[in-house]
Amino acid sequence: MIQQIYPTPYHGFKYELNKDMQVAAAHYIDHPQAGKCQHIHGHTYFINLTIGGDHLDELGFLVDFKALKQTVHDRFDHTLINEDERFSSNPPSTEKMAETIYELVETKLQKLDNRPTCLQVFVRETPTSYVTFRPKRQSYE
Ligand SMILES: [Zn+2]
Repeated sequence: MIQQIYPTPYHGFKYELNKDMQVAAAHYIDHPQAGKCQHIHGHTYFINLTIGGDHLDELGFLVDFKALKQTVHDRFDHTLINEDERFSSNPPSTEKMAETIYELVETKLQKLDNRPTCLQVFVRETPTSYVTFRPKRQSYE
């Protein structure tokens, strides 16, 4: 099920890398309008990261796949997402998950000398629901 068609972000980079991962985690939306989502429940999130760049590192990598997995999977897998510091004042909706994952990944990428950038984060929360987050940018030149 991890193979699926993802929306494709426009960019002008020479290299595009995609990393899929699954995260089993619990959350709840602490708001009366959230209905049954106010109760703690779990999802198997399917996450896809799209990374772009024009330069590779000395290993020939745009970014190490393992580093991406560590940044996202290792942080959230088998956790209660609400307890993560990034969600102390944010509801862990699919939208905020996608945005937060973008911020974590982009922060990591900005430390790399070859300057890759995160173009898109896709988060599927259920078989019928997903969110795509893309940072607003003027251009990728
Ligand atoms: Zn949920």
